[in-house]
Amino acid sequence: MNVSVVLFTADLRLRDHPPLRAAGDASRQVVPLFVRDPAVDRAGFAVPNRMAFLADCLRDLDAGLRERGGRLIVRSGDVVAQVCTVAAEAGAGDIHMASDVSAYAQHREERLRRALEAQGRRLHVHDTVTTVQPPGVVTPASSDHFAVFTPYFRHWERQALRGVLTAPRAVRVPDGIGSEPLPSRGSVTGVSPRLATGGEAEARRRLAAWLRRGIDDYADRQDVLAADGTSRLSPHLHFGTLSPVELVHRAREAGGPGGEAFTRQLAWRDFHRQVLAARPDASTADYRTRHDRWRSGPAAERDLRAWQEGCTGYPLVDAAMRQLRHEGWMHNRGRLLTAFFLTKTLYVDWRAGARHFLDLLVDGDVANNQLNWQWAAGTGTDTRPNRVLNPVLQARRYDPAGAYVRRWVPELARLRPPAVFEPWRLRGTGRAAVDYPDPVVGLAEGLARFKEARARA
Ligand SMILES: Cc1cc2nc3c(=O)[nH]c(=O)nc-3n(C[C@H](O)[C@H](O)[C@H](O)COP(=O)(O)OP(=O)(O)OC[C@H]3O[C@@H](n4cnc5c(N)ncnc54)[C@H](O)[C@@H]3O)c2cc1C
Repeated sequence: MNVSVVLFTADLRLRDHPPLRAAGDASRQVVPLFVRDPAVDRAGFAVPNRMAFLADCLRDLDAGLRERGGRLIVRSGDVVAQVCTVAAEAGAGDIHMASDVSAYAQHREERLRRALEAQGRRLHVHDTVTTVQPPGVVTPASSDHFAVFTPYFRHWERQALRGVLTAPRAVRVPDGIGSEPLPSRGSVTGVSPRLATGGEAEARRRLAAWLRRGIDDYADRQDVLAADGTSRLSPHLHFGTLSPVELVHRAREAGGPGGEAFTRQLAWRDFHRQVLAARPDASTADYRTRHDRWRSGPAAERDLRAWQEGCTGYPLVDAAMRQLRHEGWMHNRGRLLTAFFLTKTLYVDWRAGARHFLDLLVDGDVANNQLNWQWAAGTGTDTRPNRVLNPVLQARRYDPAGAYVRRWVPELARLRPPAVFEPWRLRGTGRAAVDYPDPVVGLAEGLARFKEARARA
């Protein structure tokens, strides 16, 4: 056959793209296709921050293809019906795509395979496009996936790593294949004011800057909230404008404690993916139930709203929640702290927190989000499910000068340590001058409620 279709999904790049390479090697012409499937939108994907970032990615992918003589074909509708239609229009015998792990992705692959086979076409699904190691390759003797990170990481590190592929020099698209107009960021409303820019070109700029100045200090700075010392590559990994395999190569080349710590975080990403691939229901159901009877009713709703709005009275929690709203992104230490705070101190169901994160995060990702939430809630893979994080101690440790809090909580901009950690301890005119709420719950009270609930469960 002379024509292949490449279905782009969470891999919106031209460099290090095994499906594109395989299609280009096997066929004279290639149809690069992206389908906007309403089923993905219905599942909660179509939130403004990710739609805006996606629009950037598609435009940049189209521009990259045009530089090579091609273009991106965009269609809307059921992904299976659209792929079959485009394949028939182009007379394509082979369809290439990346494997993925969610229940939706697994079902999509099965449906596509059946529908294409019924038309006499072949589906080729490529691993190591959206993950470094495919789920199911690094497994313990007794199970289909690792439930604990450390042994997973030991095995993961020892696996062979495939080489990085260059982008194709030319992409020839058959004539006469119609495309819908590309979406544009400008048409999306409700986007966070400081949302990052999407697209492979921007991803490469960020990566280059990160490798030049960033990765070497990563091990020391990754947890310092005000330092902003992490890569901020997560949206690019989520949309696939960067290849995780390439990032591991680059991190190993960089070496040192920074390169090692960064590689470890990339392994966490694969770890959650292999859990979700084996247990797709973990996107909504407890991975390991603790028989929680989460709080509900007006008081719990009020606490959830205070948390969402960044008005809990705990400065570090509030700073992180406000960063989320403003940037569509939050520092990992902030994500951990706010998730522990909601599920343990406030004892509110992790699903409510995960939903709020997915509504705003530009990197909002079923595997990473839901399983990190479960980790924090103690219903996931944390080996110490009942541990709690104290937001005051966390602030003293990870924001010792209070700079992160002052950046995001302007009401506290004039406070210095120790008042910036515990503004409720201010007295008299000092307290009156600060327009900031008292804590929604005392830490001792929250802890006692959580312990009692888990003891009962
Ligand atoms: C409650 C909670 C929810 C989260 N939701 C998401 C989400 O929806 N999408 C998402 O990509 N990450 C999520 N994370 C993981 C992590 O917080 C982000 O990946 C990280 O903050 C992104 O910033 P960065 O790119 O600067 O990370 P860096 O520190 O530079 O790390 C590099 C990359 O490693 C991966 N990584 C880092 N930490 C983790 C981790 N704990 N688990 C899995 N992968 C990791 C990410 O792909 C990240 O881009 C969540 C963490 C928590 C605690």
